[in-house]
Amino acid sequence: MTRTDLTVIGAGLAGLPIAIACAQAGWQVTLVDQHKSIDALPTDPLDQRCTAISSASVGLLSRWGIWPAIEANAQSIQQVHISQKGYLGSVRLQANDVGVKALGYVIENRQWAAALSTVVGNHEKIRWLRGETVDSVRDDNDGTVAVTLASGQRIDSSLLIAADGVNSRVRDLVGVGDTHYDYKQSALMTTLQLAKPHESMAFERFTAQGPLAFLPRPNNMMSVVWCLPKSDAQHWTGADDSLVVDQLQALFGFKLGRFQSIGPKVVVPLIRREAINQVGTRTVLLGNAARLLHPVAGQGFNLVLRDLTALLDLMGAKTDDAAIDPGSNSLLSEFVATRARDQKEVVFLTDTLAQGFLGEASMPAHLRGLALMGLDSIGPMRKHFAGRMMGYTG
Ligand SMILES: Cc1cc2nc3c(=O)[nH]c(=O)nc-3n(C[C@H](O)[C@H](O)[C@H](O)COP(=O)(O)OP(=O)(O)OC[C@H]3O[C@@H](n4cnc5c(N)ncnc54)[C@H](O)[C@@H]3O)c2cc1C
Repeated sequence: MTRTDLTVIGAGLAGLPIAIACAQAGWQVTLVDQHKSIDALPTDPLDQRCTAISSASVGLLSRWGIWPAIEANAQSIQQVHISQKGYLGSVRLQANDVGVKALGYVIENRQWAAALSTVVGNHEKIRWLRGETVDSVRDDNDGTVAVTLASGQRIDSSLLIAADGVNSRVRDLVGVGDTHYDYKQSALMTTLQLAKPHESMAFERFTAQGPLAFLPRPNNMMSVVWCLPKSDAQHWTGADDSLVVDQLQALFGFKLGRFQSIGPKVVVPLIRREAINQVGTRTVLLGNAARLLHPVAGQGFNLVLRDLTALLDLMGAKTDDAAIDPGSNSLLSEFVATRARDQKEVVFLTDTLAQGFLGEASMPAHLRGLALMGLDSIGPMRKHFAGRMMGYTG
């Protein structure tokens, strides 16, 4: 049996920074993941999944000492161009509109995992158990929650943090329950090699089938997230690469020249899945375990980092004489209350972009055009929208 302050289940995109940030604040962390090792870095640079992180998130990662570990491999976003295929109206958000160095950055998921694993592995306050899954969770009514792993090991801690992804086992074990909404779409993700420089621009293009996002990457590559009806996504995944390149070119146009080559294609179904409560007894859910969103606004991971900040603000730094109980009902209730507004706004923004811009049935194309033109021409509105997209709340 091990005694620790915090048990974090899941060392994925969210679990790694959660463990590091908590350890930096002085808390003793036991991190558990089912995998024995992290994925190896790919040999093909086009074979990468990416995540866009906002300027506000970079501030948080810097505060926790994480940003220097990934900065060298991150691609800055200086401009975001939002448009709809076949209609007038577009918005151009620029870093200097809002007085920041960059609107955000694109990180490669496996580079992120490799860099943060090293930080975790060297941190004296983190014990990392790999190749372990959770078997049971029990509230011992003595100020601890007991987690038993499949190997039989038991970990007692004051707070259990579930960062074990969309099919969270912890969420099931603590009986929190979740809601499920099917967008009836899939995201086809791939990478394009460009002929012309992308000049650190990201693009969001609304098409009749769904949104198409292009995120800039180092070495003049663009990460593509193409949302479209499930059957179309299956079709294009199995199609010849040259046909997919032609289709993307037809949807996007030639602003970035002729696309040179394309990487492997990966498809994921698009659903919104939300835990009914983000907390249970001595347990908090973070990341996809709490909320899986449509990727259209690139907000999911940024929201996780803001949730983590709120939790850490309430827990404070651990000192020898600290009387804070990080798993107390009152602290977890306050966490839920503090985060409710931002979470609701992000879900609303994401659903509006995912559904309000899908097909003629949701909003006529000329109205969408007017909305985009209005947003582009009214400076304060554009600034507010840019701020929201960059993760600045309030
Ligand atoms: C197509 C797409 C594009 C996106 N783009 C963006 C973007 O640009 N910007 C943005 O902010 N967000 C984006 N998101 C959201 C972002 O991907 C999520 O916020 C993020 O993946 C959440 O990570 P996670 O750690 O919660 O889950 P995961 O990364 O799935 O990690 C879960 C971890 O838990 C482990 N695990 C699972 N079960 C167990 C168990 N029983 N025991 C032990 N370990 C376990 C797994 O091995 C894994 O390591 C996107 C999402 C999608 C689908």
